[in-house]
Amino acid sequence: MSSHFFDGSSAKRYEITPEVWQEGISFSTERGDLAWRYEDLIRLWDYRPSDHLAFTHRKHQDSRLIIEEPELVKAIGQHAPDLLNRKKEGLRAARVAGVLAVGVITVVAAIYFLVPPITDTLARIVPWSFEVEERPELAALEKFLGKRCTAGRPNEILKSLTDQLLSVSDFPHPILIDVLDNKMSNAFALPGGRIVVMRGLIRNARSPNELSAVLAHEIGHVVNRDLTERWMRNSAIGAIATLLFGTGPTSLGDTLFQNSLSLSFSRSDEEAADRYSVHLLNQLDLDPSGGAAFFERLSRSGGLGETLPDYLNTHPESEGRADYFRERGTGTKQALSPADWLILKQICVKSS
Ligand SMILES: [Zn+2]
Repeated sequence: MSSHFFDGSSAKRYEITPEVWQEGISFSTERGDLAWRYEDLIRLWDYRPSDHLAFTHRKHQDSRLIIEEPELVKAIGQHAPDLLNRKKEGLRAARVAGVLAVGVITVVAAIYFLVPPITDTLARIVPWSFEVEERPELAALEKFLGKRCTAGRPNEILKSLTDQLLSVSDFPHPILIDVLDNKMSNAFALPGGRIVVMRGLIRNARSPNELSAVLAHEIGHVVNRDLTERWMRNSAIGAIATLLFGTGPTSLGDTLFQNSLSLSFSRSDEEAADRYSVHLLNQLDLDPSGGAAFFERLSRSGGLGETLPDYLNTHPESEGRADYFRERGTGTKQALSPADWLILKQICVKSS
């Protein structure tokens, strides 16, 4: 019965006479003296017979230290009971894992709840020129959403409708509005005051005020700086995730945070944009039932099943929003004359 040691770089078996201390085990080989601290030891539990202790070292995992003398085994057990009792070691690991999990959840919750209010405040003081620099070119959108509808007179009418809405807002910067030839019934705001409307939204709208309510909602996102806020929030969360988990934008940072946040505005952003929409409609004395009708159709169709942000996947509670337009709206007029509305509906029909 004798303790022995393998250095991991040769097959040589060193016979040793270990000494057991409060902090660890020391022993000598022909190649020198070694002192292994208990905290650096990894017990090899599968080693047999099980009343012998086999260890490797955290930093030299090819080496093996085998302790066979019962009195040494007992002494090690007194100084480092975890090395003799596998259950305890398991418990310790579970405790560490538990503490880690709570830590991660706390951090994630903190990011989730603390970052948005901070970025929300910051977004409002970021200069508008910053957002304009981030404004996507229409050509880039045309590539995957459809060509811009260029018919002259309908575009003039759409522009004047937008200007009408802007005239009662206190937003001092121009807003660009374009229609793309796409059958989706959708519209969305992009950084720098670009609003894109799909042909499907205009075609399916039953009244000019339905379109006006949606446009005013999108103007609300622009005025509230929701685009900057969303961008800052995603950047901040991505940066924190990378810092915490050391992952690039394609892995954990992405899946854990970005996907849940990046495409959609928050619910409070949506509610604020609705309030803004009703506010503009009221200022212009426009009948809000168009907005209500739009949300009612949206709720019946289950969100239309398309995949772009804004009117499609971020508005699950459309029915409540219809009520909001109906209850808070006070106006009575239509935004466009029936004649102009008919012309606007032809916006994507090519003039021959
Ligand atoms: Zn929205």
